[in-house]
Amino acid sequence: MTTPIPATLIPGDGIGPEIVDATLAALDALGAPFAWDRQIAGLGGVQAAGDPLPQATLDSIRRTRLALKGPLETPSGGGYRSSNVRLREEFQLYANLRPARTLIPGGRFDKIDLLVVRENLEGLYIGHEHYVQIDDDPHAVAMATGINTRAGSRRILEYAFDTAIATGRKKVTLVHKANIMKALTGIFLETGERLYAERYQGKFQLETVIVDACAMKLVLNPWQFDMLVTTNLFGDILSDLVAGLVGGLGMAPGANIGKDAAIFEAVHGSAPDIAGKGIANPVAIMLAAALMLEHVQLPDLARRLREAIDATLNIDQVRTGDLGGKAGTAQFTQALVARIKATA
Ligand code: NAD
Repeated sequence: MTTPIPATLIPGDGIGPEIVDATLAALDALGAPFAWDRQIAGLGGVQAAGDPLPQATLDSIRRTRLALKGPLETPSGGGYRSSNVRLREEFQLYANLRPARTLIPGGRFDKIDLLVVRENLEGLYIGHEHYVQIDDDPHAVAMATGINTRAGSRRILEYAFDTAIATGRKKVTLVHKANIMKALTGIFLETGERLYAERYQGKFQLETVIVDACAMKLVLNPWQFDMLVTTNLFGDILSDLVAGLVGGLGMAPGANIGKDAAIFEAVHGSAPDIAGKGIANPVAIMLAAALMLEHVQLPDLARRLREAIDATLNIDQVRTGDLGGKAGTAQFTQALVARIKATA
């Protein structure tokens, strides 16, 4: 019998519980050996424990060092700080991996296989923001500070370059805006070029592209890219763009990796507009579960999960509304579980 793998489970807000339940059904059908410790965070944390990131949730992840997390709601403007950002900081999850692969052939962007590696802890997301009052307007001026460090840039670039070699990627595109933000993103560019010259030359091709040009090129000809590595804010935006190339946010998984813990999630948010309607697409978080299976060295289960998703979408043609189909979350999950059991 396989040894159980302790893992924290955060169903999350909005559509979170619906898509996480669907994922658990798939993982159960696969016989994945996770021993789940259910915890709360986000709006659910505020409502149940008065804290968007309760201590018990932190303690659980500190113990298991592994989590599957549904989306967590963050109020825009005021309110509490993003629990996602806090989790990344707490566990120093410095690498955010967002793979995008075409799962439904024949669309506008066929045969996409792109990996976005985003720095997850620095840049303009560190939350150093404030307003300056002028006369009677307390919000007359808004200011934000971005911080990128040599060490932080080197750490994510090494991670990206090593991943490129380990996964056989031929080209890495370093995305920056060093023409305007000469210090803030210049340090990332300079560190990447230096690191490549020192240790990685010849192992893959490195190109550097300014973020605005990169966005245009991704839409005109995404096949020219293999893997992107970039700073926090640009990575957040470009990975959503890339998710759009392969059918939208319902298809995009993400992994947050640090030295001591890893948290797997969908790229999308809590989708409050469709929460509770039973129509959410669970594929993104299921693909995150596949990344989690690979992380714990169970690549065969990850492969079976991906193949079952592929067969459900393309052979059975069972698809949720965001993909132009008519299936609800439950119907998709039933078809997927049947596919998984057929390959047991
Ligand atoms: P969102 O990703 O929740 O939704 C954007 C659009 O995509 C909506 O129309 C939604 O219905 C649709 N969508 C998203 N996921 C879908 C799915 N699985 N199936 C079908 N349709 C799907 O983005 P938002 O509306 O900007 O954010 C809502 C909340 O989620 C906010 O509070 C935000 O802070 C939070 N959020 C959390 C995370 C996270 O936990 N990692 C990420 C992004 C946003």
